[in-house]
Parts: sequence; C-alpha cells; structure tokens
Amino acid sequence: MRVNAISSANVGFASVSTVKNSTVPQSLKPVHNNEEILNRTNEGSKAIMNYFFGAQNVPSFKGYPCSTSAFVVKQIDNVPCACCGKEMMNAKEQNEFVAKAAKAKGQDLADVFASNFHKFRRNEKAIAREIMNVAPTKPNSSLSDILTNTKKTGADLYKQECSIVLDEVDTIAKGIYGEKNKVSTYIAAQKETLNQHFGFKRNAFLKGVQNITKEDSRENQTKLLDKAIELPLNEDGVTKILNKYKHSDSTSVARRLISTAVMTTEHIHPKSNKGANNTENYMGECAECNNNRGSADLNTYWQNVYPNMPENVQRYNDYITDKIIKGEMGTRYEDYPVDLEKAVSSESRNAIKLTILTPEEIDKARKEKGISDPKPLPEPAEGDMIIVKKPSGSKKPGKPSRK
Ligand SMILES: [Zn+2]
Repeated sequence: MRVNAISSANVGFASVSTVKNSTVPQSLKPVHNNEEILNRTNEGSKAIMNYFFGAQNVPSFKGYPCSTSAFVVKQIDNVPCACCGKEMMNAKEQNEFVAKAAKAKGQDLADVFASNFHKFRRNEKAIAREIMNVAPTKPNSSLSDILTNTKKTGADLYKQECSIVLDEVDTIAKGIYGEKNKVSTYIAAQKETLNQHFGFKRNAFLKGVQNITKEDSRENQTKLLDKAIELPLNEDGVTKILNKYKHSDSTSVARRLISTAVMTTEHIHPKSNKGANNTENYMGECAECNNNRGSADLNTYWQNVYPNMPENVQRYNDYITDKIIKGEMGTRYEDYPVDLEKAVSSESRNAIKLTILTPEEIDKARKEKGISDPKPLPEPAEGDMIIVKKPSGSKKPGKPSRK
C-alpha cells in the first residue's frame, strides 16, 4: 500500500541517495510518529519518509540490515546468478538433487544429471558431462563407482569440456557471421592450442573474442560470451575435484559437484572492506562466483572472468523485480532494485548501469496486472538458515587435498 507523498518524494530519492555509497554504515533511525501516521511496513520507503519528514540529518538509508541467510532472494527458485547469469539452486533443490543422484544407477543416474546439467558450474560441468556420458553404459554403477573407476584424468575432462564449449561458440559465431568469419578462425587456432596442450587460457580466450568483435554490436558479442563463459575455469580445478572425490561415497560426490551452483548472498561491497550486512549491499550469486571473487575489485573480476556480467546483473534484477511485483518477496523489497542499481554502479565505478523500476513503477506494474498488494513474509527461523560451506577444489592452485 503506497501513499501519494511517495511519488513526489521519490523524485528526490535518487539525488538524495547519491551522497552515500555502500561503505556508509546503515544506521536507520525511524521517526516513530511518521511511521505511525503513514502506517508503512517498508524500511526503504520509511527511509524516504524520514528524509522528507524531518530526519534530514540522517545521511541516507535504504534497504534493511539482515543476516546473509535471511536475504529473501535465497528463498526464490531458479534465480539467475547476478555475476555469471547461470540459474542457481536453493538449499531445498540442492538436497533434492543430492538425494536422487546418490540413489541412482546407470541410465537413471544419467537422467538425474541431464535434467540438472544446465546448473552445474564450469569445472564441475566437465565431470558431470563425463558421468552423463558413461552412466548409460554401466547399468549397475553408482556415481561413486563411475568416478572411482574412470581412467580419465582431470586434464582429459578439462580438454574434453573446453573442446565442446569451443565448438558451441563456433556454431553461434557461424549463425551470426556466416560460415567463414574471424571468430571461427580464431576458435580453430585456439582448439589447436588446446589439443597440443600449449596452454589454452580461458580468460585470454574471452578477451580474444571481445577484441575480435569490438566493432560489432554488444548484443552479438554477448551472444558469444554467454556461451564462452561456460568454459571450465582451469584444469587444476577439475583435477583437484576429481582426485579428491574419486573414492568418496555417492552422496559426497553429488553434494560437491552441485555445491558451486548453490545460491549465496554476495556483499556487493566486500565484507572484508567494511561492506554492510544490509539488503542494499546484497545480491544473489552462485557459490562459484562468490568464492572466486573474494574481496577482489568488482571490475577486475567481472571483466576477466565474466565479461557478460553487465547483462547478467540486469537479468538478475529483472527476475527479482518480477518476483517483487508478484508479491513473492514480501513487503520489504520495494526499494531493492533502486538499492541494487546504486550499489552496483558505485562498486563498478559506474561501469555497470542498470535499468530498474522505482517503488512507484513496481506499484504501478502491480496494479496494471491486477496483482494485490504483497503481504509480509514470515521471518526465517534460525533452523531455516542456510549455511553454504566453501567447496574444496574450487580455489586457485594449491596443495592437492586428500580425504
Ligand atoms: Zn555465478
């Protein structure tokens, strides 16, 4: 439910909030009289009210403080990662996958992997593909049996996966530019490098594709990058997972292989750099992206590893905005797109610009679609909190760990 004052207030909202960035601690001091008069439940909109009804000395405040576990985005299904764009799993989906994969054998096992294949992250996908290929030929073999008995090395699986993804990028390039084109020529040379093991480099390849297509439309470039980022991150990472989990039970293998697809709460401004525990500093990111970024500068990270992140964070925003409109995010996220835009813009030093809806536009969209005002969500119970452990084998080269 929105009061009319918001419409005019919000015009000032953007300019007001530019005085701060996500490093400013979020000390929200509600003005209780206004709160009663306006009978509002949304913290972010309360912040606008506070500003316009007498709390001007408070620098700016939006979002609301909450633990990373209580970030409501984590309860939503199939959210695309704000960084790599791939669909993520929430904890419930992860448990369902693990239970099925641990029980299945042969063709059933291949089917479980096939139906979740689009969710596996880059290094894990190299191994998941092998399971999917081999399982139908071994009707009595479990996930653990297949991994333990494979003669293939991490290097073999890495090469196999790279080769498949390169072919897929090539097909897209031919679709855009025709049979003979610069991108395909480049890919052919890169495949040669890969096969002769001269040291094919994923991130250098992504840069190469961007350079070759820099005169072209960003739309075409993104079509290629959306596929190219599917390349495994590194050979070492694939090898580490394979070696560590070769003799593990099926449950552990399944849980590890899907662990990097699980949604985590990313601090847009890193926690290690005093990033706030506040929804205005949060976005949903898969464990792979979150763990690999660490406290790295956002621009350095996305430009090297996920050069299509500007499109991906927009896709994430659009997906969540749709859920806000439908009332699936409760009543406290009306300002989330505004917050997200500011935090991402600030953290990327204006390199990433999002197109977002303001709370009024969300309200308007809701009315146009005949959707009733959202109801507050129950606060998550302590027991519902999702803890995602850092998966082993997803980090940079180090000592191979053994079970
Ligand atoms: Zn991701």
